[in-house]
Amino acid sequence: MISSIILNDSEDTWTWSLGGNFFTVRSARCQIDGEFLPDQGHSTRWNQIIPKKVNIFVWRASRDRLPSRWNLSRRGIEVNSLNCPICDAGTETSFHTLWACSLASLMIALCRRILRYVRGTLDYGLQLHVSSTTQLIVYTDADWAGCPVTLSRSSAEVEYRGIANVVAETTWIRNLLRELHTS
Ligand SMILES: [Zn+2]
Repeated sequence: MISSIILNDSEDTWTWSLGGNFFTVRSARCQIDGEFLPDQGHSTRWNQIIPKKVNIFVWRASRDRLPSRWNLSRRGIEVNSLNCPICDAGTETSFHTLWACSLASLMIALCRRILRYVRGTLDYGLQLHVSSTTQLIVYTDADWAGCPVTLSRSSAEVEYRGIANVVAETTWIRNLLRELHTS
């Protein structure tokens, strides 16, 4: 067996046979994708603009791998009820959780409202004019564009955080102006 191997004097080297002579993460990832991931007609590449946890969530949702009550029961895990704990109006599947549930419908409506708001205010901006007064006036607003549906304890906390931030910023600017002898 050894006699069939031809030896030469050149230096020993490693070779990588997947996609070229040298190792690249891309070639390894393509090989893993091709071997293990089911081809469902869309890319498994992560979108680098959005957070990893969102990528992973979307990837799991697209493959119906979310731990919904229906999926848990299919895997033999005992659950008290298959019904959605939020609306109690249907089986808690991935589709129900993301699209059919009343809470999901409300969230989608709110997202559309925000997108409409953003689209309608693309040309808006802050206009800074020269003023004769030296008063420092600040504004803060964190009421979710005045939406009455989202009023809750968490949004009240956001209001307080907004106030705390604006006070801190104002204090910093006032001290800077004092150092510059403008006040
Ligand atoms: Zn529901």
